[in-house]
Amino acid sequence: MNIVTEKKCRKCGKIKSIIDFYAPKSLGNKPTNSCKECQRQYASQWNKINKGRYNENARLFRRRHPDRVRDSNREYYINHQSEFHENGNKWANENREKVRESNRKYKKKASIP
Ligand SMILES: [Zn+2]
Repeated sequence: MNIVTEKKCRKCGKIKSIIDFYAPKSLGNKPTNSCKECQRQYASQWNKINKGRYNENARLFRRRHPDRVRDSNREYYINHQSEFHENGNKWANENREKVRESNRKYKKKASIP
């Protein structure tokens, strides 16, 4: 039986011992493609870019306060209302035939007792 003891990191290209790779349960305990060092670097970079916005806390917050998330979505909609409408109108203009067709179909269906 071949026991893999070394693996090449896809990020830095270095051949490292298998213990230098994470083997998360979510991947069936298989070692990841990039070494721990690269993963750490990637994670900290990602955190910096996102300023921890999408961290575990934010996720928990969303789960506990779905109404607040909804509110902020509504706020976004209100602030960008004109854009939404503009896009909607544009779509309706470009697809006038389609809209008419679907309206007709709907009316036909609705008139059936
Ligand atoms: Zn690496």
